[in-house]
Amino acid sequence: MISYGRQSINQDDIEAVEHVIRHENLTQGKQVPAFEQALCDYTGSKHAIAVNSGTSGLHIACLAAGVGQGDIVYTTPNTFVASANCALYCSASVDFVDIDADTRQMSVLMLEDKLRQAEKHNRLPKVVIVVHFAGHACDMEAFYALSERFGFTVIEDNAHGLGASYKGTSNQSAHKLGNPIHSSMTVCSFHPVKSITTCEGGAVLTNDMKLAKKLRLFASHGITKDAEDFLCPTPAIAHFEQQCLGFNYRLSDVHAALGISQLTRIDSFIQKRWRLAQNYHDAFNSLDIKLPILDESSAWHLYVIEVDVERRDNLFTFLRSKNIGVNVHYIPVHWHPYYQQLGFKKGDFMHSEAYFRQAITLPLYPDLTADKQEYVISAVKEGFA
Ligand SMILES: *Cc1c(COP(=O)(O)O)cnc(C)c1O
Repeated sequence: MISYGRQSINQDDIEAVEHVIRHENLTQGKQVPAFEQALCDYTGSKHAIAVNSGTSGLHIACLAAGVGQGDIVYTTPNTFVASANCALYCSASVDFVDIDADTRQMSVLMLEDKLRQAEKHNRLPKVVIVVHFAGHACDMEAFYALSERFGFTVIEDNAHGLGASYKGTSNQSAHKLGNPIHSSMTVCSFHPVKSITTCEGGAVLTNDMKLAKKLRLFASHGITKDAEDFLCPTPAIAHFEQQCLGFNYRLSDVHAALGISQLTRIDSFIQKRWRLAQNYHDAFNSLDIKLPILDESSAWHLYVIEVDVERRDNLFTFLRSKNIGVNVHYIPVHWHPYYQQLGFKKGDFMHSEAYFRQAITLPLYPDLTADKQEYVISAVKEGFA
C-alpha cells in the first residue's frame, strides 16, 4: 500500500538516536534543549517548549492562554479532533467557524460575523485556534486584526505548516510559519506524517517570555527548579517547587535527537513535496477535478483533490483497490459521535461538509518515488474516466 504520508529516515537519523541511547541521558539531558534551540533558529521564534505530542502542545497552549471553565474556544471543523479537544480538556466549550471553500481554511468573514453576534450576547471566545490546513498559511494578518478588535488570543495549530512561509501584504511580514508573529503561540506536531518526525512529539513556540515559563510549568508537573522563580522565600537545599497543576508532557532525549537530525533536512523535504505537488497539478489540470491552490510557500503536508460527490466514493474505493492509501482530511469534527452528543448537528457547517464529501487525499511525502507517483496519477485518471 502506498500510504498518503510517511516519514523519511536516513542513516544520520539512526546514528543520532543510537548515540543518545548508548551514551547520553535518555531524558532531561542536553538533546531536548538543543532541539528547542534548533526550532527557534529555524523558525525565528524566541522560545520553544518541546512536548511529547502536538496534542499535549495544544493542551498546554490553551492552559497558558488561561482557558478554563466558562470560556469559549473557536476552531475550524476541517481539522483533526485534537484542535477542538484541547479546549474541552480545560473544561471550556468549543464552537466552530466554517471554512472558505477555496482555501479550505477557517473563513475570516464568517469568523468576523460570528464575533459580531457573540459580542452582542456577551459570548466572545477567549481563544481562536486557527489551523494551517494542508500546510498552506492562513490569512494571519486578518485573524490578528480581529483578535485586536475583539480581544481574544490566537493559537496557531501548525501541525501541518512547519517549513512553510507566511507572506503577508508587506515584505516585512514574511516569516516562517511557526514563528508566532500574528498570534501568541504556535503548536507543531512531529508525528511521522508531518514535516519532520520525532515518532511522537510536538512543540509550542512563543515570543512571550511569560507564556514560555507557563508552558514549561504545565509540560512538567507544574514544577520549577529555577531559583529565580521560587515562591518560597527561604528555599532549602535541592529545593524545587510545584506551582500549578501540570502534566508529564516531556519529550525524551532520544526523540529530540531524531528531531534535531530531521530538522537539518526539512527544507529538502518541503522541496520534494513541492515538486510532487506540481507534478499532480500538471497531471490533473485538464480534468474536471478541483485542485489545491498551487502555492510555493506551502509546506505541502497534504495534497487534497475534490471530485463530484457522486463520483468521490467510487474513485476512492477504486484507488484503495489499487493499493493506494488514499484518505480523507477531514471528517468534520462536529460529525463525530462525541461532538454530536455535545449538541452539534450535521448541517451546522455546510462548507466543511460539502468539502468533505468531495475530498480525497493523495499520497504525498518526500520519499514518494517518481514511479509510484506516476502509478497514482494513472490510477486517478483511470478511475476518473
Ligand atoms: C497531527 C495533528 C495534531 C495532533 O498532533 P499529534 O502530534 O498527533 O498529537 C493536531 N492538529 C492537527 C491539525 C494535526 O494534523
